[in-house]
Amino acid sequence: MAAAAESAGRPAGSIRLLAVSKTVEPVRLREAATAGQLAFGENYVQEGLAKIGALAGLGLEWHFIGPLQSNKTRPVAAHFAWVHGIDRLRIAERLAEARGTVQPPLQVCIQVNVSGEASKNGVGPGETAALAHAVAALPGLRLRGLMAIPEPTEDMALARRRFAALRELRDALNRGGLALDTLSMGMSHDLEAAILEGATIVRVGTAIFGERQ
Ligand SMILES: *Cc1c(COP(=O)(O)O)cnc(C)c1O
Repeated sequence: MAAAAESAGRPAGSIRLLAVSKTVEPVRLREAATAGQLAFGENYVQEGLAKIGALAGLGLEWHFIGPLQSNKTRPVAAHFAWVHGIDRLRIAERLAEARGTVQPPLQVCIQVNVSGEASKNGVGPGETAALAHAVAALPGLRLRGLMAIPEPTEDMALARRRFAALRELRDALNRGGLALDTLSMGMSHDLEAAILEGATIVRVGTAIFGERQ
């Protein structure tokens, strides 16, 4: 991350590391926390809630990064600080309602499908502005930015173009009156390309914890 930040001419501190800990045992998250890593990303609601309970008191920040079904919004709104994969208004509305206004707002990102596969989660680039304005208006949520999981590719130039597309979309939304400070993009295999194109959060699992079982 530091090397990529340096080649991009960006301060290393402008990119946050989210340690993706799905399938990783809580004892290993505790080790990571001891080493100073406090932000963790989980994909599955039950597994995430179990770890949040097991590691309470360490001051960890929990990000929900998996696909979210509408019947699971309540525990996610109650126990996580961030949700990265918002791709429809109904989910955002349910999260907002469940979060309420007593807790600080839930930090959210809209997931955009930048590589255009029909099977992938995420809203199409052309539908992002309408969804972003609707989500930004919900009490209980704070829309922070955009997230993407582009198709894996060995082609660095292609990877960069997809990440650049997400950045350009974010910049266009900001010109349209929003104030989005977050680009959640880049994983173990493509974090360099993402950082070169402006990632502010990289979501890294395998490169920290090793291959998942
Ligand atoms: C699993 C996962 C990651 C981490 O992937 P690695 O290749 O292990 O770094 C990042 N983001 C999301 C949404 C994931 O599901």
